[in-house]
Amino acid sequence: MQITLQRKLAVLADAAKYDASCASSGTEKRSSQELGGIGSTEGSGICHSYAPDGRCISLLKLLLTNFCVYDCAYCVNRSSSNVERARFSVDEVVTLTLDFYRRNYIEGLFLSSGIIRSPDYTMEEMVRVARTLRLTHGFRGYIHLKIIPNASPELLAEAAVHADRLSTNIELPTDLSLKTLAPEKLPSAIRTAMAKIEHAREESRPDGKQGNGKKKPTKLAPAGQSTQMIVGADATDDAGILQRSASLYAGYGLKRVYYSAFSPIPDASRALPLSAPPLMREHRLYQADWLMRFYGFNADEIAGGGEGGFLDLAIDPKLAWALKHRELFPLDVNRADREMLLRVPGLGVRSVNAILTSRRHHRLRLEDVARLCASAKAVRPFIVADDWTPGASLDSTGLRARLTPAPTQLSLF
Ligand code: SF4
Repeated sequence: MQITLQRKLAVLADAAKYDASCASSGTEKRSSQELGGIGSTEGSGICHSYAPDGRCISLLKLLLTNFCVYDCAYCVNRSSSNVERARFSVDEVVTLTLDFYRRNYIEGLFLSSGIIRSPDYTMEEMVRVARTLRLTHGFRGYIHLKIIPNASPELLAEAAVHADRLSTNIELPTDLSLKTLAPEKLPSAIRTAMAKIEHAREESRPDGKQGNGKKKPTKLAPAGQSTQMIVGADATDDAGILQRSASLYAGYGLKRVYYSAFSPIPDASRALPLSAPPLMREHRLYQADWLMRFYGFNADEIAGGGEGGFLDLAIDPKLAWALKHRELFPLDVNRADREMLLRVPGLGVRSVNAILTSRRHHRLRLEDVARLCASAKAVRPFIVADDWTPGASLDSTGLRARLTPAPTQLSLF
């Protein structure tokens, strides 16, 4: 029976929803007004749009096929799964992308795939999609390609020429978990693919800096590499997850690690948990990841905020850390260095920059700090200002309760 294009779209867009690594920020500025062709990526990337479950929907997010010769236990598309299968041709993905783009539904393409025949065969098909969009149709929009580990270096190199971003999913936080739940996937092959891409990207980076002092973007995959880790499919705690993320950021220059809470799947292996982890765990991991990338925290410090290597679900990781290290507070906002100010709960990077600028001109009072940050209530117990000291409140046993957000009812949608 011939499956219609519409049905394929329904099956393969639905199958792609499990991949969280699809945000589209940080690529180079590129426009059809200057270069001809069709589409553009605005300077800071494509605006994000999120479905109610938090997944990015600004890109046409597809699998080339959900057929797969591998049998990863956590995946709905594994070879032993009883799901409906479909496969796009290269031309169908190209046509859909251009049609959706012209109708203003999307700003780019996110393309992943199950493994058909072999890693090389699959990667070649995905590269053909990107090559046809770029070279035949002059498509200037955003392209994110998933890398199939074990594909040949030539295919990875060509993928990097056409795509803005590449991602190779690490899938699970430890090599042992990967071996148990996805025995056909080799952790070494995943890391080798990441390393090769990063090396090629760095080699392609033009010398010199931009006007803002940052290094010029690489010519290959200018939006960098990302990866996805499934949370809650194995027993790894948050400390283990964050340590793996830290090593990926340091070792392979990744732009982002995406955390995806495990979703129970039909006819699942007995090696998998019966229920999904709380979504709040995924949220806290994103907050902790942010602290590692922009606030100077390391993985061990953050994961020590909760019990037994898990993040505290009731309060954010920075507040959890500060409550455990009350001996370091209060900090004098008129004297403390940037590094420590970034550790004050309620002070973000922008607030800290504003405090540093402001205090060059006059000594700061509490009302000045309140003006420069989002929540004076959160900051007050941890700082000293010209007219303010928190007194004994920092040591009070009730401080945590006072700063814990009240539970709220979820909104209707
Ligand atoms: S290789 Fe990818 S698509 Fe295939 S079973 Fe594993 S996770 Fe699923």
